[in-house]
Amino acid sequence: MPQHPRIRSVEEYQQAYQRSVQDPDAFWAEVAEPFTWRRKWTSVRGGAFSPEGRSTWFDGARLNITENCLDRHLAQRGNKLALIWEPNDPKQRHLRLTYRELHQEVCRFANVLHNLGVEKGDRVCLYMPMIPQLAIAVLACARVGAIHSVIFAGFSSTAIADRVNDAEAAFVITADGLNRGPKQIPVKRVVDEALAHCPSVRKVLVVEHLGWPVHMHEGRDVWYHEEAEGVAKTCPAEEMEAEDPLFILYTSGSTGKPKGVVHSTAGYMVWADYTFRNVFQVEENDVYWCTADVGWVTGHSYLLYGPLLAGSTSLMFEGVPTYPDAGRFWEVIDKHSVSIFYTAPTAIRSLMAAPLDNVLSYSLDSLRVLGSVGEPINEEAWYWYHTHVGKERCPIVDTWWQTETGGIMLSALAGITPSKPAHAGLPIPGVQPVLLTQEGQEIEGNDQEGYLAIKASWPAVIRTTWGDHERAEQTYFRPYPGYYFTGDGARRDENGLYRIIGRVDDVINVSGHRFGTAEIENAINQNPHVVESAVVGFPHDVKGQGIYAYVICRPGEGQKETDLLHLEASIIETVVAEIGKIARPDKIQIVSGLPKTRSGKIMRRILRKVAEGETSNLGDTTTLLDPAVVDEIIGGRK
Ligand code: ATP
Ligand code: MG
Repeated sequence: MPQHPRIRSVEEYQQAYQRSVQDPDAFWAEVAEPFTWRRKWTSVRGGAFSPEGRSTWFDGARLNITENCLDRHLAQRGNKLALIWEPNDPKQRHLRLTYRELHQEVCRFANVLHNLGVEKGDRVCLYMPMIPQLAIAVLACARVGAIHSVIFAGFSSTAIADRVNDAEAAFVITADGLNRGPKQIPVKRVVDEALAHCPSVRKVLVVEHLGWPVHMHEGRDVWYHEEAEGVAKTCPAEEMEAEDPLFILYTSGSTGKPKGVVHSTAGYMVWADYTFRNVFQVEENDVYWCTADVGWVTGHSYLLYGPLLAGSTSLMFEGVPTYPDAGRFWEVIDKHSVSIFYTAPTAIRSLMAAPLDNVLSYSLDSLRVLGSVGEPINEEAWYWYHTHVGKERCPIVDTWWQTETGGIMLSALAGITPSKPAHAGLPIPGVQPVLLTQEGQEIEGNDQEGYLAIKASWPAVIRTTWGDHERAEQTYFRPYPGYYFTGDGARRDENGLYRIIGRVDDVINVSGHRFGTAEIENAINQNPHVVESAVVGFPHDVKGQGIYAYVICRPGEGQKETDLLHLEASIIETVVAEIGKIARPDKIQIVSGLPKTRSGKIMRRILRKVAEGETSNLGDTTTLLDPAVVDEIIGGRK
């Protein structure tokens, strides 16, 4: 039996990388070989990468991804834990499912879907708490060949309706309610509100979680536990084409209206598995925990598919990092002996603001590898993570990727390729990053900065945006023909390591000097009074653009007028020391919160509008976590 290739040294990385560029067909055929295929591919790469933007990978092959996630592990790993579920409330019992048990649960759920009339190619929207049934339901969709579209269960009914209608979904899976920290949320009610505007939906399957009474819509809504009674725990998997869509997932909406990103089956599978094994350097006995919600792509690729494809034990957490207190993450790590931990800078920063005892009172001995994803991790957060969580012993992988890329693109391989604070690092084999000038010229050499684009297709490249292929072409493939355009700006350091400096649209041009938002924020965050910051440009008579900084201070600071002046002077001093006078913020506004997407990213476009004094039309704000923050910011505008 061929083994899944694993890179174990810098030399092996270099060899793999060279080969992936020089002979991609042979390279990827070898990576794909060990999976379970019903039929092999006729061509490894095909289609048109750019500007048409419809790549194909492993075309002609037939498979079902759940056979690769579950069935093929049964012989060797049937009794190994596939999923550990940790509930919101630490006093409640956790749950463990072996590969055999998960396989049975997925089969049973798949049979229920069949019985409801779900067919291959149907779209199924999921609006669910972070409970095992969410993982099971996603896999059950894949088993029957339905296209899943997971909607983060914090979105409003309007956001649900938008997504259900965009996908023309006939089925919705939800639950009676969910726990989030101290709160309980009646999700079924939110779904009901949404579905009043969704004519395509025929059936709603409701999973019982809180035991709450809910209104069941006659003829439309059914309980999962009733439907599942007496249903078989085996279910043959639907045979899928390599290029059949596996799922639709909407982007976070940091830069505008969310895009319905479509990923197909075989290429995504190969990419999720390859990147998971190699980036985290996973071993058979690892307990791996990705804190992302399944409603985000990170939850798809690195909570569910990647770990299960690799036969790993994946931990799923229902709660939030600060409940019952800011030590919860660390408690869970000790409790389940987590060895690989993957989280987002926004979570790290929120935990950094809490007293250090919260982390120091746990041993964290089991940890071996740490990961970061979602936005640039600033140096202060990187060092805190490295020192207090990783005890200076665990390599950190700062993984840059996007919903559209399907999996990790730029990252260190844990403990193998270089890891540098605030840098994502080197490309994964198969990824050919380039820096472009605004006009589209490739910038050669190291110690350079430009627009980050990807040359040549990789297996999990976005195939289309659902129902609107034109949008995919326009957004990703047409700006620079021949390349996939990421929308991010990056810097390549003297050793070829990449650092993301922010969104291209957010670059600030001060008297001809271009700054990435991450660069200035990183400097501001070095100030001991600062917890977090966001900077944007605003029109400036002399400089072209000025720098406007929104800053969150440590609790209790910056309240009084005198304090405030001192604080501003201190922040300016820090920026001047870190970058230089030219990056000195023109305006500093102290705020109690920042407008963030529900995945924790700052919506700088809103801050830019406020800084420009244009507050009447803020654009799409449906993915905003806390709209009240925006009012406060408008009120305190400088
Ligand atoms: P939209 O595309 O709708 O504006 P979004 O870009 O926030 O939303 P995602 O696909 O969730 O949606 O996020 C991808 C983006 O997140 C990247 O383009 C990049 O800006 C940022 N990002 C992700 N990981 C990292 C990282 N490790 N370092 C720096 N930036 C990152
Ligand atoms: Mg994006």
